[in-house]
Amino acid sequence: MSPRRIVLLGATGSIGRSAVRVAKDLPDRVRVVGMSGFRNIPGLAAAANDLRPEFLAVPDESSAAQLSALLDYKPASILTGEEGLCQLAALDAADMVLVAIVGTGGLRPALAALAAGKDIALASKEVLVVAGELVMAAAARHDCRLLPVDSEHNAIFQCLEGRDPRHVKKLILTASGGPFRTWPEDELRTVTREQALRHPTWRMGEKITIDSATLFNKGLEMIEARWLFGVDISRVEVVIHPQSIIHSMVEFIDGSVLAQMSHSDMRFPIQYALTWPDRLAGSLPPLEFAKLGKLDFEEPRCDVFPALDLARQASERGGIAPAVLNAANEVAVAEFLAGRIAFPRIWEIVARVLGETADVPRHDLDSLLAADQAARSLAARCAAA
Ligand code: NAD
Ligand code: MG
Repeated sequence: MSPRRIVLLGATGSIGRSAVRVAKDLPDRVRVVGMSGFRNIPGLAAAANDLRPEFLAVPDESSAAQLSALLDYKPASILTGEEGLCQLAALDAADMVLVAIVGTGGLRPALAALAAGKDIALASKEVLVVAGELVMAAAARHDCRLLPVDSEHNAIFQCLEGRDPRHVKKLILTASGGPFRTWPEDELRTVTREQALRHPTWRMGEKITIDSATLFNKGLEMIEARWLFGVDISRVEVVIHPQSIIHSMVEFIDGSVLAQMSHSDMRFPIQYALTWPDRLAGSLPPLEFAKLGKLDFEEPRCDVFPALDLARQASERGGIAPAVLNAANEVAVAEFLAGRIAFPRIWEIVARVLGETADVPRHDLDSLLAADQAARSLAARCAAA
């Protein structure tokens, strides 16, 4: 079997680096033909020198010159700007595109990949939160597969494979609960950047690590699940599972529940998405149950962590509301990381921006992007107030 030809969008990030390790582990099955980076050009050069993709993409000409000087081979092309990212996503030489760009930046490249008929391995949950309906419709129109990389959705995808959708009762997303799972509410005001960035079970990029601490990550994932698996949001539940061993579950109408388990290492879902439908023996370690001892489960504290309710409300409103939630959250997280707002204000800003945004009847890409921009401005004003 010839290797699957993959483009890695966001090759220098946490997911991107794990994908590079998967590709190096399985050279006969995964060939990286394109890679993009954003700010970390030396990191992109190091990964490119390792895997030698013919096509690279960076934000601008000066990054292209910097990259070129650091490469020890001559690629066919170094593309630039968002246009370059979209060209990379639509590359003739690729079979599949891993979208691992943090935030809304992955949306246009994902749509470009689908328009070119590429299957997508999707890590960037924001893409489905902002434009789930459009993205799912584009995938169906161009006969493309969307393989979930987010560990919860990859788990549900595995549990659902070969099942009749009519037999599914609900999807149960597991959440670690983040570093403040057991904190008293009044102490959350004192949370520092460093404390919020210390996730108990996963090592990830900064934005998703803060999202895991507020539980907005799980809120975004509820909306992501709703689109990926075509279920109503009322059938998507969340349970806290601090060990992050069960990555998610599916409950069927007969009361049986299937779960998917592994160590908390993103190479598991990345490998499964990149090599699907095969399962390949790589270098990933199996679980040793006797050493794990026990697995715990708790109700999420929705009163203290309002992110789940806000995401559910935004999803029920539909239209532009999830895009507004996502944009306000991106701004609030950046403000918190910059040290300009206290931790609980992230929830407050998202709630306020959602509350002050009117629904619009039509939601094509332009109106979603306009809503995204308006929500960003409003969130920035709230943060400064
Ligand atoms: P990260 O911050 O480590 O990396 C982000 C990547 O995006 C980098 O390669 C960066 O170069 C690129 N990038 C950033 N802004 C860009 C822009 N405007 N245009 C083009 N490229 C840009 O993030 P991450 O943790 O790897 O997460 C990536 C995505 O995967 C996020 O949507 C996150 O929610 C999702 N995800 C991550 C994990 C994880 O374990 N890290 C797990 C599940 C889902
Ligand atoms: Mg996840």
